[in-house]
Amino acid sequence: MSTQRSTQTITAVPALPAVHERYADVADRRLAVALSTEDAAEERGELDPLERTTCYTHRRWLHHCVSSPLHVIVVTGHRWCRRCECAVNVAIDQLTGDVTLTCPKCHGMPPGAANRQIVRCCRASLAAAHDSDHDAVRALRAVA
Ligand SMILES: [Zn+2]
Ligand SMILES: [Zn+2]
Repeated sequence: MSTQRSTQTITAVPALPAVHERYADVADRRLAVALSTEDAAEERGELDPLERTTCYTHRRWLHHCVSSPLHVIVVTGHRWCRRCECAVNVAIDQLTGDVTLTCPKCHGMPPGAANRQIVRCCRASLAAAHDSDHDAVRALRAVA
């Protein structure tokens, strides 16, 4: 007689990338995963900290906190107009995905690679967050 062994069924957990405990309380799951993934890539030296779509300091999508004074980096020229030597404003259009930097003094788009990088990363962060909004809608529909 063969002994019947009861195999314990392991409940299938959706295979999502690990979320670092630092972000365990972040409500937006996709954001928590993106933060953890970018942190890890940055630590491995594979991701330029200024190429991130999420913010380690504010624990948010970049476009949600880029208007904070902490995102002005004078040395590199991020959110900084070198012509006028002042911080520049960021306008984010959530609907069209438009990102505009405007200098309050010369009213132009501040020149420089760093400012173009901000525009590029904010667009990427908008797109990533937009996808996660779609997921939320899909989840709601599935429940209904
Ligand atoms: Zn931030
Ligand atoms: Zn200016």
